[in-house]
Amino acid sequence: MNAKHIEADVLVVGSGAAGMMAAKAAADGGAKVVLVDKSLIGRGGATILAQMTVAVALGEAEADNPDIHFEDTMKGSRDMADPVIVRTIVDRGPEVIREVEGYGVKWARTPDGKHAQVVAPGHSRQRCVYVDILNTGGATSAGLRKAIWKHPRIERLKNVMITKLVVENGTVQGAVGFGIERYEPFTVAAGAVILATGGLTEVYARNSASANMTGDGFLLAAEAGAELRDMEMVQFFPIAHLHPPLVGIDPIMWDPFRYKLGGRLLNGNHEEFMDRYNKEQSGVYTAARDQTSYAIFQEVEAGRGTPHGGAYLDFRMVEEARLKEAFGPVIKILADQGVDLTRDLVEVAPMAHFTMGGIRVNSDMETRVPGLYACGELIYGMHGANRLSGNAITEALVTGRIAAETAVQANRGRGDAELVRSALAAEVTRLEAFWHPRSVEQDEASMLACKRELQQLMWEDAGPLRTEASLERALDRLTELGERVRGVALAPQRSFALSLAEKLELSGMIQLSESIVRGGLVRRETRGAHVRLDYADAYETAVTTVFALAESGEWSVREQPLAEAIEDSKGDEAAWQQ
Ligand SMILES: Cc1cc2nc3c(=O)[nH]c(=O)nc-3n(C[C@H](O)[C@H](O)[C@H](O)COP(=O)(O)OP(=O)(O)OC[C@H]3O[C@@H](n4cnc5c(N)ncnc54)[C@H](O)[C@@H]3O)c2cc1C
Repeated sequence: MNAKHIEADVLVVGSGAAGMMAAKAAADGGAKVVLVDKSLIGRGGATILAQMTVAVALGEAEADNPDIHFEDTMKGSRDMADPVIVRTIVDRGPEVIREVEGYGVKWARTPDGKHAQVVAPGHSRQRCVYVDILNTGGATSAGLRKAIWKHPRIERLKNVMITKLVVENGTVQGAVGFGIERYEPFTVAAGAVILATGGLTEVYARNSASANMTGDGFLLAAEAGAELRDMEMVQFFPIAHLHPPLVGIDPIMWDPFRYKLGGRLLNGNHEEFMDRYNKEQSGVYTAARDQTSYAIFQEVEAGRGTPHGGAYLDFRMVEEARLKEAFGPVIKILADQGVDLTRDLVEVAPMAHFTMGGIRVNSDMETRVPGLYACGELIYGMHGANRLSGNAITEALVTGRIAAETAVQANRGRGDAELVRSALAAEVTRLEAFWHPRSVEQDEASMLACKRELQQLMWEDAGPLRTEASLERALDRLTELGERVRGVALAPQRSFALSLAEKLELSGMIQLSESIVRGGLVRRETRGAHVRLDYADAYETAVTTVFALAESGEWSVREQPLAEAIEDSKGDEAAWQQ
């Protein structure tokens, strides 16, 4: 079979902040690295979309240290984060923020030369650095791209989708995938594989994701034998734009302006309501994301929503000059579309924004599968039931660096090339089974309709508000949809195999959606982002949900008391390091 074959010490899958950081650190450590992305390198996924801030206890704006950052993150997680992971990330945050500054990420400075740091809900200190309040992620991606671009030990492969990890005797040997541009099968033999493929929010109808945030890494890891945790914990960003329709505006852009200007939330009756839920004072933005999302949904449920089903955001009390200064060029984009914030209200409502559950790793970013590491939004442990603003990019940068350091230190060699090559045939057979002997274009169209159906059903039945009945209904609908998608046959593609990639993504998303639903059914409580209308209270003792994937593709899910799971992890720390 004609296939491209590469050998490397470290294969990094995904090139957001976590993947680029991992590639750079591994290559600096002397490893030959292959960095693969199904999109363009450093331009797919969430990192480039991130607008606002990065939380790190530099202590330059006011007294702060990693211990306080740790406390805030644990509290913000609604007591669900894994303290080992949180400690690891907050402790190394300051170091990596300074490291990427060396790659050209220009964190904003105050006139006296200190890093500018702002406070964000849930952080008790002015802790969050930024580049330009709407371009922090873009600037971080650009700095990291510069750092990896000419590195002699990094080979970059864009538009290559990894579809299977090769595991022999429980140990990772490399991976198989295909080049999307020319349907070119691909094998990479590598003794260390670092997954950095980002989140899964594309499964929801209202989401802030880019289309490639389809959660592939969760499935690759679970199929290889890794454990997932808390998959039901999806963060809903509370004040995403809802109405009027606007062009050239990112739906989550209202948040930084609320940081700067306050901005009141009003229900459909034009009354403030946040004080009733979170004791938030008028015009002061202090409630965390889970609290604000919950409050908005409760108002909507009670019949006090806005005409399009959200809340109003009101900046009318802010003087025009301050509005113009804070919004900068955005004020003109709004004005061109008839929105004058001195006079008009806009409607906002929650949207799926971040995957808080994920792959269980230890503090060295090892999964329980030897040779397999994970980092970034893919991992479980940092956020529990509610992520604090700014903690995700810190997580991506720190965990990417640690995964690489561990992989280099382990020096696992280049994997068994023969074995990886021989795994290709079975994978190509699996992929090509999606093809139809004749051209069937309408089936491709029906696949897109199936994706919309998935997003709608997840939003309606397993979204921000859940009940046993809605989750059971979601399971039935997922089973039926999965069968229909399996029956969609694609025209054979020898070039630009985008619909093959899309079908793989959709099949994977359906399987992963099932993990969200099954986790949601098992967790009979309301905690943070997981709202069960039929169980209003939180458990007295925090639990984590533990997922394993059988060869048949069936998920098994069990609850484990969190304290017990943390005790167990201590054992894993020792075992995984051998
Ligand atoms: C709109 C938006 C705004 C945000 N703002 C902030 C913020 O202000 N502060 C903050 O801390 N966090 C923010 N976040 C969250 C944060 O940006 C992400 O959690 C973080 O960037 C994730 O980085 P990552 O490297 O793990 O994944 P990503 O940056 O998502 O990168 C994953 C990469 O993996 C690739 N990939 C996926 N599957 C495959 C496969 N099978 N084969 C090959 N490649 C694959 C994708 O193409 C993608 O390029 C925001 C998120 C969004 C969506």
